[in-house]
Amino acid sequence: MMVCPQCKNNKTVVFDSRRLSTYTRRRRHCLLCNYRFTTRESLASKPLSRSEQLAIKFHQLYEELAPSFGYKTREASAKPWSEVPENNKQLMISVCSRILKELDYRNKHTIRVGTRV
Ligand SMILES: [Zn+2]
Repeated sequence: MMVCPQCKNNKTVVFDSRRLSTYTRRRRHCLLCNYRFTTRESLASKPLSRSEQLAIKFHQLYEELAPSFGYKTREASAKPWSEVPENNKQLMISVCSRILKELDYRNKHTIRVGTRV
């Protein structure tokens, strides 16, 4: 149910609907105050796992920082995450998952004894 942003009633109609690549754009019209407004509708995607988030961040930051370390970013890796081949994605996610597991393990099993002087 859609509420009119102007008068807050819920009697609105859709008079135009357009499917775009990542969402559907709908033009709506309020039957009471005649206010016209646009909504975007997209499917809520499932939340990303920590390893996936880390892999994505790694990918983005690597590309961002590489030039300042003298590397030319390669055509293939300069792609946005969504265009990275599925195989590469899975590999990176697996690596990140292992890193996270090892870090978690170490954090849990390290007991601090005193402080360094
Ligand atoms: Zn209205």
